Amino acid sequence: MLKLKNISKSYTIGDFSQNALDNLSVEFKSKDFVAVLGPSGCGKTTLLNVIGGLDHADKGDLFINGKSTKDFNDSDWDMYRNNSIGFIFQSHNLITHLSVLQNVEMGLSLSGVSKTERIKRATEVLVRVGLKDHIHKRPNQLSGGQSQRVAIARALANNPDIILADEPTGSLDSETSIQIMELIKEIAKEKLVILVTHDSELANRYASRLIRLKDGQIISDSNPTSEEEEKKDEIKFKKTSMSFKTAFISSINNIKTKLGRTILTAVAGSIGIIGIALILSLSNGLDQQIQKFEEDTLSGYPISITESKIDFEKMMNYGQEDLTSYPETDYALVFDEAELRSFLQPNLITDDYIQYVENYVANEGLNTLVGVKYERFVNMSLLQYYEISPGVGAYMPIYQEEKNPDDTTTSPYEAAMAIFTLLPEGDVFNNNYDIIYGSYPVNDLDNGQVGVVIIVDEYNRIFKSTLTALGFDTTDVSEISFSDIVGKEMKLFIGEYDILFSDVDTAFDVTITGIVRQKDSSNVSLFYNGLGYTSDVSEYIYTNYPDEVGDIRRISLYPNSFDDKELVKTYLDAYNVGLSEVDQIEYIDQAATFTAMVGGVIDTISIVLIAFAAISLVVSSIMISIITYVSVIERTKEIGVLRALGARKKDISRIFNVENVIIGFGAGFVGVAVSLLLIIPINFVIEHFADMANVAKLNPVAALILILISITLAVFAGLMPARMAAKKDPVIALRTE
Ligand code: ADP
Ligand code: MG
Repeated sequence: MLKLKNISKSYTIGDFSQNALDNLSVEFKSKDFVAVLGPSGCGKTTLLNVIGGLDHADKGDLFINGKSTKDFNDSDWDMYRNNSIGFIFQSHNLITHLSVLQNVEMGLSLSGVSKTERIKRATEVLVRVGLKDHIHKRPNQLSGGQSQRVAIARALANNPDIILADEPTGSLDSETSIQIMELIKEIAKEKLVILVTHDSELANRYASRLIRLKDGQIISDSNPTSEEEEKKDEIKFKKTSMSFKTAFISSINNIKTKLGRTILTAVAGSIGIIGIALILSLSNGLDQQIQKFEEDTLSGYPISITESKIDFEKMMNYGQEDLTSYPETDYALVFDEAELRSFLQPNLITDDYIQYVENYVANEGLNTLVGVKYERFVNMSLLQYYEISPGVGAYMPIYQEEKNPDDTTTSPYEAAMAIFTLLPEGDVFNNNYDIIYGSYPVNDLDNGQVGVVIIVDEYNRIFKSTLTALGFDTTDVSEISFSDIVGKEMKLFIGEYDILFSDVDTAFDVTITGIVRQKDSSNVSLFYNGLGYTSDVSEYIYTNYPDEVGDIRRISLYPNSFDDKELVKTYLDAYNVGLSEVDQIEYIDQAATFTAMVGGVIDTISIVLIAFAAISLVVSSIMISIITYVSVIERTKEIGVLRALGARKKDISRIFNVENVIIGFGAGFVGVAVSLLLIIPINFVIEHFADMANVAKLNPVAALILILISITLAVFAGLMPARMAAKKDPVIALRTE
């Protein structure tokens, strides 16, 4: 049933070549007890390894049931070892982190026997070798003889045809040796047992055939087999493979034996995960806050189209070099803005454009806009009383506005500088403006009372033209006290004013009630300088004096949401396509600069921080790599045993990969759990200092992805050492002490 023909095997170390087996031919019967004797180094172990398919001959052929093994591939050899061969080693080679039962089960697991069947068969063989009461012990709780019985049970479990025993009594006392030999003799009644031994006395007593080896050659054979009638049956092997579950149990057991080390590795791995999780939660939370802020306030910050093209902010920065911003003075600076004229270009809103916008408002606007505001010129005059002689005087215009100024005579500058500006209201006003002197305007329109405020810039400057228009003498004046401005009264006459014929009694009484300035913290690119009025004033005038109201000079579109704003902008941009620069009409997105900028900064900071945190992931990956490497070295013998039991290379690397999946999962899970705990105090601190509740939030998807990353990194880090383990030569692995 087993035949070796002209087998040669040599080992070469440097220039020196050692013949372990030298042109050896021998045949075995299917039931026999063969003892192989010979001095140390004569090739006994090599012979067993070749027969067992652990090692392969350089020359010659091995026949199993008359079939040559020349074409066997790795998988065939794995199946052969698992199905047909049972190895018993001198040093038991039990897997120390598995129980006696699990050790015996291992070969059965590899050939896919079900759990209940496995336990039944393993228990049966353990009872047979006399270990009924020890099946749940660990190998290190057994005596030498008991351990060897376990090894025998393991070799028998798969019911192989051939048992190969390499000096099984070598490390046992003589009494125990006899017991073991008795057991093996029992087994040899139904199987082929090939037993290597030093002890010729024991061999003589138990074996039915003695083969003596010397220098890789057979020098005597007590009972050579004649050409036995060969059974030509096709040999059928069951495929071997380790189930994920078996690998998992083995890994868990092995991890238990080095729990401290594994926990430390997982904790080290979790630090990077914690770092990234916290950064993600914070930036995610902040982004959400910004978006919420954006959506809450969006309706207050319109897209506006005004009649001059250069952004006012740029212009206002002109000539401010030596000035203190946000001064706490009680006077305003007079700003002769004449030089600014050169900065401006017309952005005159044409009828065409108004039509274009109105089309939008009437269609898509129903879904995307919360409101639209048009501001218009009005035929009106600001009047101040001049006393010509005591008791005699008249109201004279100090500022006049025409409902439709002639474009050719009104420079864009003047159009833009029209002194009346609609004030924002409610939260938008409160969030972006301070009343630095006086109070917010109140109106009593039915009784002809109007309140206005003066808006100054961040350096407390007021345009000279505004002051002049309000009747202040600005010749050679560079400062003007707030108290001189606030409280000033004048009249507002709607319509064309005629000193002789107009009825001043129909004019509104206008009072300047306060000075208003944009906040330092305001992020809105609004520009106002001049006389601020509230929207009810313009509504009142548009309603009651329709004939005096002219064309639109400013359009404000209030989008529904951030996305809608983008739609509106896209629509407005489309108007300019193909137009020459002069004809293009530009808009100002009052909230855009701020949010785009802050969002960008947060993203950049997050990326930098995540890069730093990622370094700790790299470090922990290297650690896992080293740990796996150490583990592979420590478990070399086990690898050899598993291969002898028929485990495939894949199964070996799987054991280590599964171990790293567990470590990676542990690291990821601990990392996410710790992060969730840390988020609680972090949010507490943020709420305390920044007054924002629950900013840090870990997105569950992100948490899951982080755990997956952790597992992937761990497996990836262990891949090289695991491959190394898989590639280990089982013969060398078994020889390792
Ligand atoms: P035995 O089991 O009879 O003591 P072995 O079969 O272990 O002998 O070894 C036979 C010969 O082959 C010895 O000389 C040994 O040194 C050599 N040998 C065995 N394995 C190796 C190896 N992996 N590398 C080099 N030489 C080896
Ligand atoms: Mg040996």
